Amino acid sequence: MQTAQKISALLGRVSAAAGRVLRQKKLPDTAFPIMIPPGVAGCNVCGYIAKTGHPRLCPGCGRNQRQRTFKQLFLARLQPEVFGDGPLNDGLLLSPGEVERALLVPRLRRYIVSSLYQTYYGVGPFVRADVRDLAPFADESFDYVQACNVLDYVPEIEQALRAVHRVLRPGGVFVFLIPEGNLLPGAEPVSVSVHASVTGDYWPDPADVPLVRVGRQRLTRLLQESGFQAEQVQLVDTLCRAKCTWWLCRRGEYTNAAHRTPGTLLNAFGQFDRQAAAGFYGLAQQTIARRLFGAVCQRFLAVRNFIGTKIFDRFFQFRVTL
Ligand SMILES: [Zn+2]
Repeated sequence: MQTAQKISALLGRVSAAAGRVLRQKKLPDTAFPIMIPPGVAGCNVCGYIAKTGHPRLCPGCGRNQRQRTFKQLFLARLQPEVFGDGPLNDGLLLSPGEVERALLVPRLRRYIVSSLYQTYYGVGPFVRADVRDLAPFADESFDYVQACNVLDYVPEIEQALRAVHRVLRPGGVFVFLIPEGNLLPGAEPVSVSVHASVTGDYWPDPADVPLVRVGRQRLTRLLQESGFQAEQVQLVDTLCRAKCTWWLCRRGEYTNAAHRTPGTLLNAFGQFDRQAAAGFYGLAQQTIARRLFGAVCQRFLAVRNFIGTKIFDRFFQFRVTL
């Protein structure tokens, strides 16, 4: 009897350990727990409930799992956390779907619809823009940017993240989705293959659409490096049971001077290259800082050394590095 109990306890521990390992592989550390709204089944847009099977496109309204999980995200997180105090001033909707537009437009005082190839006639004020630079938009001109199924077509994902960061105001929100198939589990770098796609509307050559894959951890790091606080919200669609990861990001303060593109410099030069502008600004900032404060700081350090590091540091707990 004792032996049987021991074996059963051992099996329990082994299965718990296996469960932990499998769960870790399934969900990275940064992922939020999967949210399945209690008592909800079927399409959350039109109410259709499938008698058999799990259709991806809703037979009732034609919406896909991304649009349906966006509604989940909106109700569970965006409505209370982002739009809780009323509408935001300015939104940029990159290639927005119908459900996104229906939910977001009433929460934005002004909004612009944008894409590179598709025109979105009749759905709102449209400005054609490349997400890699978002050149038509000035720095810090939006409180909210949305991009569902956009970044998975952009091999220069890093550039796009910097561009979104640039046009967002501090504290602004960036919400995006990359399909699960394009998200690898670890820190895999951005890789690109070309495939034929049904999304001919979005791409000029439907047989030559870039398929961008990236690891979740790598994407999290790219977001952090671009100045975002990012969170993965994994949702399960209630009709087809597919998982969708929505990335909920807030623009923090600048962490790197190179990201800072001063508005005055850009205004002065119009289409001045932003990378060059950022580099120039960083260099100018360093040069001015060195010239103006270098001498003072050297004196300061000399005095500190003279008095004695230990005593001085006790009263002045900071360092000067130039
Ligand atoms: Zn439906």
